[in-house]
Amino acid sequence: MSFAELGLSPEILRAIDEQGYSEPTPIQAKAIPLVLSGRDLLAAAQTGTGKTAAFMLPILERLKKFASTSASPAMHPVRALILSPTRELADQIAVNAAAYTKYLPLRSTVVFGGMNMDPQTQELRRGVEILIATPGRLLDHVGQKTVQLNKVDVLVLDEADRMLDMGFINDIRKILGMLPRTRQTLLFSATFAPEIKRLAEEFMHDPQTVEV
Ligand code: AMP
Repeated sequence: MSFAELGLSPEILRAIDEQGYSEPTPIQAKAIPLVLSGRDLLAAAQTGTGKTAAFMLPILERLKKFASTSASPAMHPVRALILSPTRELADQIAVNAAAYTKYLPLRSTVVFGGMNMDPQTQELRRGVEILIATPGRLLDHVGQKTVQLNKVDVLVLDEADRMLDMGFINDIRKILGMLPRTRQTLLFSATFAPEIKRLAEEFMHDPQTVEV
């Protein structure tokens, strides 16, 4: 199985080739076709399995139709929102997103707590299709009206079990309430604990389960 056989475009194939990826990892081989089909996905995968590319690559494929070289921020609303429990993980996802979008006119940025909001605000004001965020800081930006979430097409809850352990459930509920109801939702977690299953039942639409 190759990345090309999974249905990814030349711009994406070129970027992942430059990353030195020669073939998909098991989670990528299972998740990429499902995400491309538009289904919701409940995935059990640890860090190190290649889970970031498992959601990011098909998201980019789906967002390609919105890619725009226009300078107008209105042409770059947030289409993909990726929530992460920690700044370290958020930052790592952002580094990957930047590498994978090298040949696509899609913008991405990352916002997390513990840093001055102003540089993040400037980035958001330019417009980004892909936003990676920790929940609390995202709500701070929403409160300041520097970002709108009404055009979000796909939501990723990465390391959802850790987000719940860290007490982010109320923030996550608030954020979910701001998103369009018609969207794709992808949830990644190390385990399917009962509270993860409850979250999935509440916020996902007939999810497919993938475990590696
Ligand atoms: P992750 O599980 O997303 O944190 O990824 C773990 C590491 O594997 C990262 O350094 C990725 O760049 C790398 N990686 C992801 N997919 C592949 C692949 N198909 N082939 C080789 N390395 C990969």
